[in-house]
Amino acid sequence: MSKEFKFLKKKKVIIFDLDGTVVNLTADWPTLKNILRERYNQLYDDSCEFRSMSACLSEILEKEDEEVLQNFFDIIRTFEMKNIHETTPIDEIVYFIKHKEHFGIKREIKLAILSLNTRVTIKKSLKLAELEDRFDLIIGREDVRRWKPEPEGLIKIKEYFGVKERDMIFFGDLENDIKAGRSAGIDAYYIDVLINLVKNYIN
Ligand SMILES: [Mg+2]
Repeated sequence: MSKEFKFLKKKKVIIFDLDGTVVNLTADWPTLKNILRERYNQLYDDSCEFRSMSACLSEILEKEDEEVLQNFFDIIRTFEMKNIHETTPIDEIVYFIKHKEHFGIKREIKLAILSLNTRVTIKKSLKLAELEDRFDLIIGREDVRRWKPEPEGLIKIKEYFGVKERDMIFFGDLENDIKAGRSAGIDAYYIDVLINLVKNYIN
């Protein structure tokens, strides 16, 4: 293992966010937010605190309205899948995942996805990037109830693999990814760090 990749050496589970990290999705997120906002208004005759989709979903959770929550997941899923074929891979990261042994990552090291996208979107976009068989666990939008930057997804992954915080590393493209890592006590890095290391390695 070249020394640049030493920070990965003792890790047993490497976790990636999806959008902006492994692939770039092309969904029109502002439009999706508007659709959800309008739906929320219709249902509750009230406006959703719309800092983020997660904030809105959290309000539905507080109302313990599981049916509406599922309906919102459906809307998000359908919307995300509309432009799924325009998804583009992030080449360096796809290369890293496909050739992880070249970077000194042993075969038995587990790979996971922790994403705010719905499971079908994650699976389809991984398939488009020809990575469908590379991940041992996928945690999507529907799999947690406290979304990033909350640590719930990372804790689920830790429990699933029965590992310690120090055995895990998380890569993402947003501050909320880094915050989630911090609150779970797990090393978290911006994906640019890995992209640049892989770029240098390939060239
Ligand atoms: Mg992202």
